[in-house]
Amino acid sequence: MENETVAQFLRPEQFLEYLPENPIKEQFAEAWTYMNKHYTKFQIATWGSLIVHELVYFAACLPGILFQFMPFMRRFKIQENRPETFDGQWKCFKLLMFNHFCIQLPLIAGTYVFTEFFNIPYGWEEMPTWYNLALRVFGCAVIEDTWHYFLHSALHDKRIYKHIHKVHHHYQSPFGMTAEYAHPLETLILGMGFFIGILLLANHLILLWAWVTVRLFETIDVHSGYDIPYLNVFHLIPFYGGAKFHDFHHYNFTGNYSSTFTWWDKIFGTDRQFKEYYTKLEGKKSKSQ
Ligand SMILES: [Zn+2]
Ligand SMILES: [Zn+2]
Repeated sequence: MENETVAQFLRPEQFLEYLPENPIKEQFAEAWTYMNKHYTKFQIATWGSLIVHELVYFAACLPGILFQFMPFMRRFKIQENRPETFDGQWKCFKLLMFNHFCIQLPLIAGTYVFTEFFNIPYGWEEMPTWYNLALRVFGCAVIEDTWHYFLHSALHDKRIYKHIHKVHHHYQSPFGMTAEYAHPLETLILGMGFFIGILLLANHLILLWAWVTVRLFETIDVHSGYDIPYLNVFHLIPFYGGAKFHDFHHYNFTGNYSSTFTWWDKIFGTDRQFKEYYTKLEGKKSKSQ
């Protein structure tokens, strides 16, 4: 009897009861039900996913686009001596549009087939709780980061670097929009890491949209060129690399190959030059003070 009480007390579901409810659950339920009622699954999977991708991409880029016109923000620019230029941004925007509509849209069009094949639900009744979704998105991020680390390092191999990955390194001081500025083959190769998590963890269409939202905000943040430590919620995540970490990869061309977390670079010592650079910089700063 006593044992039963202990077992009952330790049921994980009971701990979940203490987690807060989603504060916008009602409004979200209404919008989601409306969408399912008025649009077909194909329209939701294809056009819905495209709209989510485009809206999130440019919403995430917007702060960085505005920062360049605010002198106050210059203190947060990582490579202060390399400001954004109009020509650089326009060139980036043109290739981005080609990548989004000629490479990514055909891939997005496969969403409907994927969800039908694996019976991934779209309905409100099957909607996962926010913490279930958050855990799955975190799982996708860990998988993508691992894929990215090894494949990104491979793309830096001297024999193939100039054929594919050199395009992404055109900008030595990146800005938000450069996150998806890449050779079409790179979009396919590194993009695979994005899909593995979905293949293993998707339990609802919402996971695809939640994961693409988090991934885009994250990759645009690390390419933003601005390190704003206190206002950035991503910095609350342990082992999050951030803008300084990936900016250094563009500045230095080698090291810091991970996309999101720092553990793979720590394990393989590929963050050595990054650490040395910042130790030297800190030393110079404290000497001049
Ligand atoms: Zn690289
Ligand atoms: Zn990059």
